[in-house]
Amino acid sequence: MEEKGTPREVISAQLIGYRALDTPHTRILSSMCTIPHQIAEEAKRLFAASNLGDPAVFAGAAKIEQLLIESLGDLLHCKTASGWMTSGGTESNLQAIRAAKKRKKTEKPNIVVPESAHFSFYKICDILGLEMRTVPYAPGKYIADTGRMAELIDKNTIAVSAVAGSTEYGTIDDIRTIAKITRETDTYLHVDAAFGGFVIPFLKNPVPFDFAVEGVDSVSLDPHKMGLGTIPGGCLLFREEEDVKALRVSTPYLISKEQTTLTGTRPGADAAAAYAVITYLGREGFRDIVAGCMENTRRLTAGLSAFGYEKVLDPVLNLTVFRDFAVPDGWMVSHTGRHELRFVLMPHVTRDVVEAFLADIAEQKQK
Ligand SMILES: *Cc1c(COP(=O)(O)O)cnc(C)c1O
Repeated sequence: MEEKGTPREVISAQLIGYRALDTPHTRILSSMCTIPHQIAEEAKRLFAASNLGDPAVFAGAAKIEQLLIESLGDLLHCKTASGWMTSGGTESNLQAIRAAKKRKKTEKPNIVVPESAHFSFYKICDILGLEMRTVPYAPGKYIADTGRMAELIDKNTIAVSAVAGSTEYGTIDDIRTIAKITRETDTYLHVDAAFGGFVIPFLKNPVPFDFAVEGVDSVSLDPHKMGLGTIPGGCLLFREEEDVKALRVSTPYLISKEQTTLTGTRPGADAAAAYAVITYLGREGFRDIVAGCMENTRRLTAGLSAFGYEKVLDPVLNLTVFRDFAVPDGWMVSHTGRHELRFVLMPHVTRDVVEAFLADIAEQKQK
Protein backbone atom coordinates (compact mmCIF):
# COMPACT_ATOMS: atom_id res chain seq x y z
CA MET A 1 0.00 0.00 0.00
CA GLU A 2 1.29 3.45 -0.97
CA GLU A 3 1.66 6.27 1.53
CA LYS A 4 -0.52 8.61 -0.52
CA GLY A 5 -3.75 7.74 -2.27
CA THR A 6 -4.25 7.56 -6.02
CA PRO A 7 -6.65 9.77 -7.99
CA ARG A 8 -10.01 8.30 -8.85
CA GLU A 9 -9.49 8.62 -12.65
CA VAL A 10 -6.21 6.71 -12.46
CA ILE A 11 -7.82 3.88 -10.54
CA SER A 12 -10.79 3.86 -12.82
CA ALA A 13 -8.55 3.53 -15.89
CA GLN A 14 -6.61 0.78 -14.13
CA LEU A 15 -9.76 -1.14 -13.28
CA ILE A 16 -11.06 -0.89 -16.83
CA GLY A 17 -7.73 -2.20 -18.06
CA TYR A 18 -7.81 -5.18 -15.74
CA ARG A 19 -11.46 -5.84 -16.49
CA ALA A 20 -10.52 -6.10 -20.18
CA LEU A 21 -8.29 -9.06 -19.25
CA ASP A 22 -11.38 -11.01 -18.17
CA THR A 23 -12.75 -13.17 -20.97
CA PRO A 24 -15.91 -11.60 -22.45
CA HIS A 25 -18.98 -13.70 -21.72
CA THR A 26 -19.63 -14.12 -25.45
CA ARG A 27 -16.60 -16.47 -25.43
CA ILE A 28 -17.34 -18.42 -22.24
CA LEU A 29 -18.86 -21.84 -22.83
CA SER A 30 -17.39 -23.36 -19.67
CA SER A 31 -18.99 -21.45 -16.81
CA MET A 32 -22.05 -22.10 -14.70
CA CYS A 33 -22.18 -18.43 -13.75
CA THR A 34 -23.53 -15.81 -16.07
CA ILE A 35 -24.05 -12.07 -16.41
CA PRO A 36 -26.30 -11.00 -13.54
CA HIS A 37 -29.67 -9.57 -14.48
CA GLN A 38 -29.57 -5.76 -14.48
CA ILE A 39 -32.11 -5.55 -11.67
CA ALA A 40 -29.83 -7.77 -9.57
CA GLU A 41 -26.86 -5.46 -10.07
CA GLU A 42 -28.98 -2.47 -9.05
CA ALA A 43 -30.19 -4.22 -5.91
CA LYS A 44 -26.61 -5.20 -5.06
CA ARG A 45 -25.49 -1.58 -5.17
CA LEU A 46 -28.36 -0.49 -2.92
CA PHE A 47 -27.46 -3.02 -0.21
CA ALA A 48 -23.67 -2.82 -0.52
CA ALA A 49 -23.30 -1.79 3.16
CA SER A 50 -25.81 -4.24 4.64
CA ASN A 51 -24.44 -7.08 6.76
CA LEU A 52 -26.73 -10.07 7.11
CA GLY A 53 -24.46 -11.34 9.86
CA ASP A 54 -26.21 -8.93 12.21
CA PRO A 55 -29.86 -9.09 11.14
CA ALA A 56 -31.08 -7.14 14.17
CA VAL A 57 -29.14 -4.15 12.86
CA PHE A 58 -29.84 -4.66 9.15
CA ALA A 59 -33.53 -5.49 9.44
CA GLY A 60 -34.32 -4.58 5.83
CA ALA A 61 -31.73 -6.93 4.39
CA ALA A 62 -32.81 -9.60 6.87
CA LYS A 63 -36.44 -9.24 5.76
CA ILE A 64 -35.37 -9.62 2.14
CA GLU A 65 -33.43 -12.78 2.92
CA GLN A 66 -36.49 -14.19 4.68
CA LEU A 67 -38.72 -13.35 1.68
CA LEU A 68 -36.16 -14.92 -0.64
CA ILE A 69 -36.11 -18.16 1.34
CA GLU A 70 -39.93 -18.21 1.51
CA SER A 71 -40.15 -17.73 -2.21
CA LEU A 72 -37.64 -20.50 -2.90
CA GLY A 73 -39.34 -22.77 -0.35
CA ASP A 74 -42.53 -22.30 -2.33
CA LEU A 75 -40.70 -23.08 -5.58
CA LEU A 76 -39.19 -26.22 -4.02
CA HIS A 77 -42.53 -27.44 -2.62
CA CYS A 78 -42.02 -26.67 1.05
CA LYS A 79 -43.45 -23.33 2.07
CA THR A 80 -42.29 -23.81 5.65
CA ALA A 81 -38.65 -24.52 4.73
CA SER A 82 -36.03 -22.51 6.61
CA GLY A 83 -32.61 -21.52 5.45
CA TRP A 84 -30.36 -18.71 4.37
CA MET A 85 -28.14 -17.22 1.75
CA THR A 86 -24.64 -18.67 1.44
CA SER A 87 -21.62 -17.88 -0.70
CA GLY A 88 -22.57 -20.69 -3.08
CA GLY A 89 -22.88 -24.41 -3.55
CA THR A 90 -19.75 -25.35 -1.61
CA GLU A 91 -20.81 -23.60 1.57
CA SER A 92 -24.40 -24.85 1.22
CA ASN A 93 -23.23 -28.44 0.89
CA LEU A 94 -20.90 -28.05 3.86
CA GLN A 95 -23.67 -26.67 6.06
CA ALA A 96 -26.11 -29.39 5.01
CA ILE A 97 -23.60 -32.10 5.88
CA ARG A 98 -22.78 -30.37 9.18
CA ALA A 99 -26.48 -30.45 10.06
CA ALA A 100 -26.62 -34.14 9.14
CA LYS A 101 -23.60 -34.83 11.33
CA LYS A 102 -25.36 -33.22 14.30
CA ARG A 103 -28.26 -35.64 13.87
CA LYS A 104 -26.24 -38.82 14.07
CA LYS A 105 -23.36 -39.35 16.43
CA THR A 106 -20.98 -42.08 15.33
CA GLU A 107 -17.28 -42.73 15.73
CA LYS A 108 -16.41 -43.25 12.08
CA PRO A 109 -18.88 -41.15 10.11
CA ASN A 110 -19.15 -41.52 6.35
CA ILE A 111 -21.20 -39.92 3.61
CA VAL A 112 -22.41 -41.60 0.45
CA VAL A 113 -22.25 -39.50 -2.71
CA PRO A 114 -22.61 -40.23 -6.41
CA GLU A 115 -19.62 -40.31 -8.74
CA SER A 116 -21.04 -37.08 -10.16
CA ALA A 117 -20.72 -35.29 -6.80
CA HIS A 118 -19.14 -31.85 -6.97
CA PHE A 119 -15.50 -31.56 -5.82
CA SER A 120 -16.69 -29.53 -2.82
CA PHE A 121 -17.39 -32.87 -1.13
CA TYR A 122 -13.65 -33.57 -0.93
CA LYS A 123 -13.23 -30.34 1.02
CA ILE A 124 -16.24 -31.12 3.17
CA CYS A 125 -15.02 -34.60 4.10
CA ASP A 126 -11.62 -33.14 4.93
CA ILE A 127 -13.06 -30.40 7.14
CA LEU A 128 -15.61 -32.58 8.91
CA GLY A 129 -13.44 -35.70 9.15
CA LEU A 130 -15.70 -37.92 7.09
CA GLU A 131 -15.05 -40.92 4.91
CA MET A 132 -16.40 -40.35 1.41
CA ARG A 133 -18.05 -43.33 -0.23
CA THR A 134 -18.57 -42.88 -3.95
CA VAL A 135 -21.41 -44.58 -5.78
CA PRO A 136 -20.48 -45.44 -9.38
CA TYR A 137 -22.64 -44.45 -12.31
CA ALA A 138 -25.44 -46.74 -13.35
CA PRO A 139 -24.27 -48.60 -16.49
CA GLY A 140 -24.58 -46.38 -19.54
CA LYS A 141 -25.89 -43.44 -17.52
CA TYR A 142 -24.36 -40.52 -15.68
CA ILE A 143 -26.44 -40.86 -12.53
CA ALA A 144 -25.85 -42.83 -9.35
CA ASP A 145 -26.47 -46.56 -9.42
CA THR A 146 -29.09 -46.71 -6.67
CA GLY A 147 -28.54 -50.42 -6.05
CA ARG A 148 -24.87 -49.77 -5.31
CA MET A 149 -25.83 -46.76 -3.24
CA ALA A 150 -28.01 -48.89 -0.97
CA GLU A 151 -25.08 -51.29 -0.46
CA LEU A 152 -22.71 -48.51 0.61
CA ILE A 153 -24.98 -47.13 3.35
CA ASP A 154 -24.27 -48.55 6.80
CA LYS A 155 -24.78 -47.62 10.45
CA ASN A 156 -22.00 -45.00 10.22
CA THR A 157 -23.53 -43.19 7.25
CA ILE A 158 -24.58 -39.74 8.41
CA ALA A 159 -25.87 -38.54 5.03
CA VAL A 160 -26.46 -39.24 1.41
CA SER A 161 -26.05 -36.40 -1.04
CA ALA A 162 -27.68 -36.67 -4.44
CA VAL A 163 -27.25 -34.34 -7.40
CA ALA A 164 -30.00 -32.62 -9.35
CA GLY A 165 -28.12 -31.16 -12.30
CA SER A 166 -24.60 -32.54 -12.15
CA THR A 167 -21.74 -30.16 -12.79
CA GLU A 168 -20.13 -32.22 -15.55
CA TYR A 169 -23.10 -33.81 -17.33
CA GLY A 170 -26.19 -31.93 -16.18
CA THR A 171 -27.81 -35.21 -15.14
CA ILE A 172 -30.35 -35.68 -12.36
CA ASP A 173 -30.08 -38.56 -9.90
CA ASP A 174 -33.17 -40.66 -9.30
CA ILE A 175 -34.15 -38.70 -6.21
CA ARG A 176 -37.37 -40.66 -5.57
CA THR A 177 -35.58 -44.01 -5.42
CA ILE A 178 -32.74 -42.55 -3.38
CA ALA A 179 -35.21 -41.01 -0.92
CA LYS A 180 -36.89 -44.38 -0.53
CA ILE A 181 -33.53 -45.89 0.42
CA THR A 182 -32.67 -43.10 2.87
CA ARG A 183 -36.10 -43.28 4.49
CA GLU A 184 -35.76 -47.02 4.99
CA THR A 185 -32.32 -46.59 6.54
CA ASP A 186 -33.23 -43.40 8.42
CA THR A 187 -30.43 -41.49 6.70
CA TYR A 188 -30.24 -37.74 6.08
CA LEU A 189 -30.73 -36.81 2.41
CA HIS A 190 -29.30 -33.64 0.87
CA VAL A 191 -30.01 -32.69 -2.74
CA ASP A 192 -27.33 -30.61 -4.41
CA ALA A 193 -29.22 -28.55 -6.97
CA ALA A 194 -26.65 -25.74 -7.15
CA PHE A 195 -26.99 -25.73 -10.93
CA GLY A 196 -30.30 -27.50 -11.52
CA GLY A 197 -32.33 -25.69 -8.88
CA PHE A 198 -33.12 -22.78 -11.18
CA VAL A 199 -33.52 -24.99 -14.26
CA ILE A 200 -35.46 -28.15 -13.44
CA PRO A 201 -38.59 -26.42 -12.02
CA PHE A 202 -38.90 -24.47 -15.27
CA LEU A 203 -38.68 -27.38 -17.71
CA LYS A 204 -41.80 -28.61 -19.50
CA ASN A 205 -42.03 -31.84 -17.49
CA PRO A 206 -39.87 -31.41 -14.40
CA VAL A 207 -38.87 -34.57 -12.57
CA PRO A 208 -39.42 -34.47 -8.80
CA PHE A 209 -36.12 -33.57 -7.17
CA ASP A 210 -36.97 -31.28 -4.27
CA PHE A 211 -39.03 -31.29 -1.05
CA ALA A 212 -41.93 -32.71 -3.08
CA VAL A 213 -40.08 -35.97 -2.55
CA GLU A 214 -40.67 -37.25 0.95
CA GLY A 215 -37.35 -37.85 2.69
CA VAL A 216 -35.43 -34.95 1.14
CA ASP A 217 -34.06 -33.04 4.14
CA SER A 218 -32.23 -30.16 2.49
CA VAL A 219 -31.76 -28.64 -0.95
CA SER A 220 -29.13 -26.19 -2.17
CA LEU A 221 -29.56 -24.01 -5.25
CA ASP A 222 -27.46 -21.13 -6.47
CA PRO A 223 -28.82 -17.76 -7.53
CA HIS A 224 -25.34 -17.01 -8.91
CA LYS A 225 -25.70 -19.82 -11.45
CA MET A 226 -29.02 -20.10 -13.31
CA GLY A 227 -30.73 -17.71 -10.87
CA LEU A 228 -29.17 -14.73 -12.70
CA GLY A 229 -28.12 -13.22 -9.38
CA THR A 230 -24.83 -11.64 -8.45
CA ILE A 231 -21.65 -13.44 -7.38
CA PRO A 232 -21.45 -14.85 -4.75
CA GLY A 233 -24.89 -16.12 -3.96
CA GLY A 234 -26.13 -19.56 -2.96
CA CYS A 235 -29.19 -20.64 -1.01
CA LEU A 236 -29.64 -23.54 1.38
CA LEU A 237 -33.07 -24.71 2.53
CA PHE A 238 -33.98 -27.25 5.21
CA ARG A 239 -37.29 -29.03 5.60
CA GLU A 240 -36.99 -29.28 9.38
CA GLU A 241 -36.38 -26.30 11.66
CA GLU A 242 -34.63 -28.74 14.04
CA ASP A 243 -31.73 -29.19 11.62
CA VAL A 244 -31.24 -25.45 11.49
CA LYS A 245 -31.36 -25.14 15.26
CA ALA A 246 -28.66 -27.78 15.59
CA LEU A 247 -26.24 -25.33 13.96
CA ARG A 248 -26.89 -22.48 16.40
CA VAL A 249 -24.02 -20.70 18.09
CA SER A 250 -24.34 -17.65 20.31
CA THR A 251 -22.89 -14.35 19.13
CA PRO A 252 -22.37 -12.21 22.24
CA TYR A 253 -20.70 -9.16 20.68
CA LEU A 254 -23.38 -8.64 18.04
CA ILE A 255 -26.80 -7.09 18.51
CA SER A 256 -28.34 -10.31 17.20
CA LYS A 257 -27.78 -13.08 19.74
CA GLU A 258 -27.28 -16.22 17.68
CA GLN A 259 -26.26 -17.47 14.28
CA THR A 260 -26.67 -20.68 12.31
CA THR A 261 -24.67 -19.66 9.25
CA LEU A 262 -21.07 -20.68 8.57
CA THR A 263 -19.76 -17.23 7.75
CA GLY A 264 -20.23 -14.35 10.17
CA THR A 265 -20.41 -11.19 8.14
CA ARG A 266 -22.57 -11.92 5.11
CA PRO A 267 -23.54 -9.77 2.14
CA GLY A 268 -27.06 -8.40 2.20
CA ALA A 269 -26.29 -7.21 -1.31
CA ASP A 270 -26.40 -10.61 -2.99
CA ALA A 271 -29.58 -11.58 -1.13
CA ALA A 272 -31.22 -8.37 -2.33
CA ALA A 273 -29.98 -9.11 -5.85
CA ALA A 274 -31.38 -12.64 -5.81
CA TYR A 275 -34.69 -11.47 -4.38
CA ALA A 276 -34.99 -8.69 -6.95
CA VAL A 277 -34.38 -10.93 -9.93
CA ILE A 278 -36.66 -13.81 -8.93
CA THR A 279 -39.44 -11.38 -8.04
CA TYR A 280 -38.96 -9.47 -11.29
CA LEU A 281 -38.90 -12.53 -13.55
CA GLY A 282 -41.38 -14.79 -11.80
CA ARG A 283 -41.83 -18.39 -12.90
CA GLU A 284 -42.90 -17.20 -16.33
CA GLY A 285 -39.69 -15.27 -16.86
CA PHE A 286 -37.53 -18.20 -15.75
CA ARG A 287 -39.49 -20.58 -17.98
CA ASP A 288 -38.67 -18.37 -20.97
CA ILE A 289 -35.00 -18.16 -20.06
CA VAL A 290 -34.69 -21.91 -19.50
CA ALA A 291 -36.58 -22.64 -22.75
CA GLY A 292 -34.10 -20.43 -24.61
CA CYS A 293 -31.09 -22.13 -23.00
CA MET A 294 -32.50 -25.58 -23.81
CA GLU A 295 -33.15 -24.55 -27.41
CA ASN A 296 -29.55 -23.32 -27.73
CA THR A 297 -28.32 -26.56 -26.17
CA ARG A 298 -30.19 -28.55 -28.82
CA ARG A 299 -28.82 -26.31 -31.57
CA LEU A 300 -25.21 -26.69 -30.43
CA THR A 301 -25.61 -30.43 -29.96
CA ALA A 302 -27.11 -30.83 -33.45
CA GLY A 303 -24.50 -28.50 -34.98
CA LEU A 304 -21.56 -30.35 -33.48
CA SER A 305 -23.07 -33.72 -34.37
CA ALA A 306 -23.46 -32.54 -37.98
CA PHE A 307 -19.70 -31.93 -38.04
CA GLY A 308 -19.25 -35.57 -37.07
CA TYR A 309 -18.40 -35.01 -33.41
CA GLU A 310 -19.79 -37.54 -30.98
CA LYS A 311 -22.07 -36.52 -28.12
CA VAL A 312 -21.59 -38.40 -24.87
CA LEU A 313 -25.24 -38.24 -23.80
CA ASP A 314 -28.51 -36.59 -24.78
CA PRO A 315 -28.61 -33.31 -22.85
CA VAL A 316 -30.87 -33.34 -19.81
CA LEU A 317 -30.36 -29.70 -18.86
CA ASN A 318 -28.62 -26.81 -20.65
CA LEU A 319 -25.29 -28.62 -20.75
CA THR A 320 -23.97 -30.84 -23.49
CA VAL A 321 -20.90 -33.10 -23.51
CA PHE A 322 -18.87 -34.35 -26.48
CA ARG A 323 -15.92 -36.64 -27.01
CA ASP A 324 -12.82 -34.48 -27.11
CA PHE A 325 -11.95 -32.53 -30.26
CA ALA A 326 -9.80 -29.48 -31.04
CA VAL A 327 -11.65 -26.35 -29.98
CA PRO A 328 -10.96 -23.22 -32.09
CA ASP A 329 -8.78 -20.58 -30.42
CA GLY A 330 -10.39 -17.90 -28.32
CA TRP A 331 -13.16 -20.04 -26.81
CA MET A 332 -13.34 -21.10 -23.19
CA VAL A 333 -14.46 -24.72 -23.11
CA SER A 334 -13.64 -27.04 -20.22
CA HIS A 335 -13.27 -30.78 -19.86
CA THR A 336 -14.91 -33.37 -17.65
CA GLY A 337 -12.79 -35.58 -15.40
CA ARG A 338 -12.91 -38.13 -18.25
CA HIS A 339 -11.53 -35.56 -20.68
CA GLU A 340 -14.69 -34.99 -22.65
CA LEU A 341 -15.65 -31.49 -23.79
CA ARG A 342 -18.34 -29.89 -21.72
CA PHE A 343 -20.43 -26.94 -22.93
CA VAL A 344 -22.66 -25.03 -20.53
CA LEU A 345 -25.36 -23.10 -22.35
CA MET A 346 -25.90 -20.27 -19.86
CA PRO A 347 -28.15 -17.31 -20.77
CA HIS A 348 -25.14 -15.34 -22.03
CA VAL A 349 -24.54 -18.12 -24.59
CA THR A 350 -27.14 -16.77 -27.01
CA ARG A 351 -28.08 -18.23 -30.39
CA ASP A 352 -25.63 -15.77 -31.99
CA VAL A 353 -22.83 -17.03 -29.76
CA VAL A 354 -23.64 -20.64 -30.66
CA GLU A 355 -23.64 -19.81 -34.38
CA ALA A 356 -20.35 -17.91 -34.08
CA PHE A 357 -18.77 -20.91 -32.36
CA LEU A 358 -20.07 -23.32 -35.01
CA ALA A 359 -18.83 -20.98 -37.76
CA ASP A 360 -15.35 -21.00 -36.20
CA ILE A 361 -15.39 -24.77 -36.22
CA ALA A 362 -16.45 -24.84 -39.88
CA GLU A 363 -13.60 -22.49 -40.72
CA GLN A 364 -11.11 -24.57 -38.75
CA LYS A 365 -12.23 -27.68 -40.64
CA GLN A 366 -11.56 -26.00 -43.99
CA LYS A 367 -7.96 -25.20 -43.13
C1 LIG B 1 -21.24 -25.30 -8.95
C2 LIG B 1 -21.62 -26.43 -8.12
C3 LIG B 1 -21.28 -26.47 -6.76
C4 LIG B 1 -20.33 -25.48 -6.13
O1 LIG B 1 -20.82 -24.22 -6.11
P1 LIG B 1 -19.87 -22.97 -5.77
O2 LIG B 1 -20.85 -21.87 -5.85
O3 LIG B 1 -18.84 -22.93 -6.85
O4 LIG B 1 -19.31 -23.18 -4.44
C5 LIG B 1 -21.77 -27.51 -6.00
N1 LIG B 1 -22.54 -28.45 -6.55
C6 LIG B 1 -22.89 -28.45 -7.85
C7 LIG B 1 -23.77 -29.54 -8.38
C8 LIG B 1 -22.43 -27.45 -8.68
O5 LIG B 1 -22.74 -27.46 -9.98
